[in-house]
Amino acid sequence: MARKGLIVQKFGGSSVANVDRIRNVARRIASYYKKGYSLVVVVSALGDTTDELVELAHTINPSPSPREMDMLMATGEQASSSLLTMALHRLKIPAVALTGPQSGIYTDKDHTRAKIVKIIPKRIKEEIKKGNVVIVAGFQGLSPEGDIATLGRGGSDLTAVALAKALNADLCEIFTDVEGIYTADPRIVKDARKLDVITYDEMLEMASLGAQVMQARSIEVGKKFCVPIVVRSSLSNKPGTLITEEVEGMEGAVVRGVSLDRSEAKITVCGVPDRPGIAAKIFKELSKAGISVDVIVQNVSSEGKTDISFTVDKADLKRSIDILAKVVKQIKAKDVITDENICRVSIVGVGMRNYPGVAATMFDVLAKNKINIDMISTSEISISCIIKDKDGKKAVNALHKAFGLSKGRKAKKAR
Ligand code: ADP
Ligand code: ASP
Ligand code: MG
Repeated sequence: MARKGLIVQKFGGSSVANVDRIRNVARRIASYYKKGYSLVVVVSALGDTTDELVELAHTINPSPSPREMDMLMATGEQASSSLLTMALHRLKIPAVALTGPQSGIYTDKDHTRAKIVKIIPKRIKEEIKKGNVVIVAGFQGLSPEGDIATLGRGGSDLTAVALAKALNADLCEIFTDVEGIYTADPRIVKDARKLDVITYDEMLEMASLGAQVMQARSIEVGKKFCVPIVVRSSLSNKPGTLITEEVEGMEGAVVRGVSLDRSEAKITVCGVPDRPGIAAKIFKELSKAGISVDVIVQNVSSEGKTDISFTVDKADLKRSIDILAKVVKQIKAKDVITDENICRVSIVGVGMRNYPGVAATMFDVLAKNKINIDMISTSEISISCIIKDKDGKKAVNALHKAFGLSKGRKAKKAR
């Protein structure tokens, strides 16, 4: 049969969490296949498999080598891709499972967070030509050393978007356990609204600021190559959310969404001598170890000493403390204190570029809810506050309401 267009679909871990769900996904794929589409399907590991593998590794060795972590983690997607293919065979749909390396996905050697450097989809194209649905194990590729490398947590999204670009697909559909991109995590805000469209920039900002529904790097790639991405549910036929470029006349809400990130910890280096070069020394040592630092605040100095606070990923906290213990001695600072009980609440929207007073409203809402702001950071289209972890959900709900994002409310329009 002559095939219609090519669609790249991705099914996340929750969509293939058990046998029934794998069968459900297989039925969905079969119905697309029968409509005449060529299909490349990226699949994540079953349910929480990756988390379980990470935990297992840390039980065996608290600091496992990144190469071995990749050997281990990549097995999750290998298992799900072959199981899904077997389910399709039972439905008499021709299909073949391929690992990332077999699919021609080449990465750099930065194990556990590798970048895709090129894709040579020769094998995928051959399989499509033979009439096969190609099931690709997400989240992985081949490093320059010939080893398997993974693409960072949530990396199956990146596999899907990058393959959609490499194959010049007509559409990239991301199937998950919610009906699209919402104004806030629907698990936290009960009356969050599903958005029909969101810009790449807004989605990128929301993903970077904690909305794990899409991996931030996958949106960077989508934006760079204008890949049309639709996020939708694997359990319903509702239309989902289109992630696209900003177009004139697109509903210009001031705030498109609110997000919560609980993955960071705060570090304060106390009693730092207030002289040129000291901040550079602190951050250079951390960056040499590949640790990314975010929101940075330096206090007003008193008697030639100051405090510098910043946030790091909780996963990098222990290494940061070890590095800073040495730096503190070298620069003659007093000590280092850490706080893991923080979170970051953010508002995002391209409309806020032209709309003054958004920050003031945000701070006011938090104040009225007796939520203390510890640190603040802004970008052109977002404002984030670091607050106490226990206040996170309350803050998200209050901001969601205050900016008119709840169901049945009309979002405040930008001028
Ligand atoms: P998958 O297993 O399909 O990759 P994820 O768990 O990575 O799914 O992402 C889906 C989850 O993202 C949802 O269950 C939801 O709780 C969460 N989420 C966070 N923020 C948002 C948002 N703004 N819109 C939709 N979902 C969100
Ligand atoms: N299984 C990997 C993870 O849990 C990749 C993914 O689901 O996208 O991070
Ligand atoms: Mg995901």
